[in-house]
Amino acid sequence: MAYTSIPELHERLKNRTLTAKNLLDIHFSEVDQWEPKLHASLEILKTQAYEKADLVDAEFDKGAPMPLLAGIPIAIKDNICMSGIKTTCASKILENFISPYNATVIEKLNAQHMIPMLKTNMDEFAMGSSTENSAFGATRNPWDLSRAPGGSSGGSAAVVAAGEVPLSLGSDTGGSIRQPASFCGVVGIKPTYGRVSRYGLVAFASSLDQIGPFSRSVEDGAHLLQALCGHDVHDATSSQNPVPDFSKSLTPDVKGLKIGVPKELFGSAIADDVKQALVKALDLLTAQGARWEEVSMGSFEAGLSTYYILAPAEASANLSRFDGVRYGHRNTSATSLKEMFKKSRGEGFGPEVIRRIILGTFVLSSGYYDAYYLKAQKARTLIQEDFKKAFSHYDLLLTPTAPTTAFKLGENADNPLAMYLADIATIPVNLAGLPAMSIPCGFSNGLPIGLQLIGKAFDEATMLRAGYTYQTLTDHHLKRPLL
Ligand code: GLN
Repeated sequence: MAYTSIPELHERLKNRTLTAKNLLDIHFSEVDQWEPKLHASLEILKTQAYEKADLVDAEFDKGAPMPLLAGIPIAIKDNICMSGIKTTCASKILENFISPYNATVIEKLNAQHMIPMLKTNMDEFAMGSSTENSAFGATRNPWDLSRAPGGSSGGSAAVVAAGEVPLSLGSDTGGSIRQPASFCGVVGIKPTYGRVSRYGLVAFASSLDQIGPFSRSVEDGAHLLQALCGHDVHDATSSQNPVPDFSKSLTPDVKGLKIGVPKELFGSAIADDVKQALVKALDLLTAQGARWEEVSMGSFEAGLSTYYILAPAEASANLSRFDGVRYGHRNTSATSLKEMFKKSRGEGFGPEVIRRIILGTFVLSSGYYDAYYLKAQKARTLIQEDFKKAFSHYDLLLTPTAPTTAFKLGENADNPLAMYLADIATIPVNLAGLPAMSIPCGFSNGLPIGLQLIGKAFDEATMLRAGYTYQTLTDHHLKRPLL
């Protein structure tokens, strides 16, 4: 099916030229064709999806008023809990774990009568930038099957790019929504920290994690974001800030908008084709009345090293709950409790997760705590101040989402440092807790390029408006990979 926006789908569901069941048929046929090539999904929720579609169709048949997202299929990253369904985090340690409850975001999708179709592949426990760290095999990029879809939400990005679903959910701790969105040529939004409840999201680094949407267009992404946001008593870090009506941002207007462009992200670390695409995007926005200026921000130099102390530190604490007693895989040959812990964790976790746990335990250990963890916390404060200062001059920041287009599978597999560099533009945003999104802004050798817009805290609205304006002037987001 050619790209059809969510409001158009809703209109057709309402006037019954389309049923929720038709919509599932169309998307499951894409799943059948793409999945053998992509391996973007870990579980296909066919029975549940059709049951739900029947209920939704009955309501539409009655002419009952239904929300905009009713009957729209969606894919869910496999670190988000759905009651009665496996939540594996693409890890052997949770291979057979069935969640006893729904994440708050799933409750919110249910309230909209959305239809979850797939649980998507990811880097194990969301640690990675290529989806190659999945214990169940890598996902491939639909634009070039020899390349990575990005990560850690590579599955959620690939299924939207391929047209298996119109929308999906991912999680972003250091770039895991935006970087795969960039590699796969779709829109990926990381909300302000606290906007979307983390209840039921398996924690990686709790002070950085946020759930957010993938979509083909900014318009569709804004509608899904609307459904996800809001205060939740189950998440102590969830914000009480009122949630604006994001549909008001869907007007093409960037007149007078002041954009800062961090010069640290226009150096030699960024590929020329990416820089060229960004310059074109800036020209387009300028022609519409926006103004831009170069700004210097040390955050983009200090971010990576700060993150790779803080995120593993939090991960080492969060992942201590996987001990073979309460959750998931347990070794049965051990003869003592300590041996059981050791063997269960050793067998259950993959190499990247083990690397992070060791790193995190080290930086938190007495004797090293002050030198690493405490110092990194201070650096985080400086990064937050750096952004605050920039936002006293600008409404938005614009950067590349990733330094390159999608790299080859295996290219960075043995070089964690090279892999970590893929997130140089996205990570500081999580450390500062700000909203950001990636939008397709061109192609190079058939591979999508993404630009990142970063907004002020709780000002998703301005970011969405600029992104929407850009998409009224371009058609990159309408292109689709061929099977
Ligand atoms: N790629 C980064 C990491 O490996 C970010 C991951 C994420 O955002 N979940 O930690």
